[in-house]
Amino acid sequence: MRQVVVFENVSKTYPGEVAAIRDVNMAIDSGELVALVGPSGSGKSTMLHLMGTLDRPSAGRLMIDGFEVSGLSDREISALRAQRIGFVFQQFHLPVGVPVLDTVTDGLVYAGIPLKRRRALAMAALDRVGLGHRLDHLPHQLSGGERQRVAVARAVIGEPALLLADEPTGNLDTASGQAVLGLLRELHAAGTTVVVITHDREMAKALDRQVEIRDGRIVSDTGATDAGSQCVRAAGTVL
Ligand code: ADP
Repeated sequence: MRQVVVFENVSKTYPGEVAAIRDVNMAIDSGELVALVGPSGSGKSTMLHLMGTLDRPSAGRLMIDGFEVSGLSDREISALRAQRIGFVFQQFHLPVGVPVLDTVTDGLVYAGIPLKRRRALAMAALDRVGLGHRLDHLPHQLSGGERQRVAVARAVIGEPALLLADEPTGNLDTASGQAVLGLLRELHAAGTTVVVITHDREMAKALDRQVEIRDGRIVSDTGATDAGSQCVRAAGTVL
């Protein structure tokens, strides 16, 4: 099984801070659906930033889709992120006043695909999230749940190896949240590797694997794979 994320003794220390994550060992295989759960301040966002290559580790080895992050230039990291990682955030982050079709089309801007083809792919992605009839709508004309579904369409249009969702239902009512969760499950069933960051234990329980982080350390992991354990052993720490 291909590993999409590998943390080997990874730590991240912000300037003037104690370590936000410490000596983390974890591996995520291709096709997994993982919840990263923990209280506020435990290090979840730091993990997300590292997995999303938005930040680099202070120590340890981090592999994303087979690439060791510390061995890449900033330009290579940007390319890795644009081509292989999709993001969904709690606040949706849809550009104001831009029709949703254009927003999703722009999700492929770095891929060198002609505009006509990108628009066709964007229509298909919006169709996939149940918004094929809302192509010309502006964000303010949509409900929160619909906005998040647009954000998911934008995140997956490039068929990323890894979809990172940061509290994706945090701003939604229960029904819309369930719909977005259902969508993430569908994407997972179709083969996308999905990591959901949440402080909501109920939501975490609904996902296949729960990794719990506290004070910057993993304190439990319901699905540590053999590959993950091997990586931990290879790193010569726990076990
Ligand atoms: P969570 O997402 O679980 O709330 P974070 O990863 O945001 O946790 O934070 C973990 C720790 O790192 C906290 O103590 C937080 O104050 C600190 N931290 C997070 N981001 C920064 C930053 N940019 N600069 C300094 N400290 C930070």
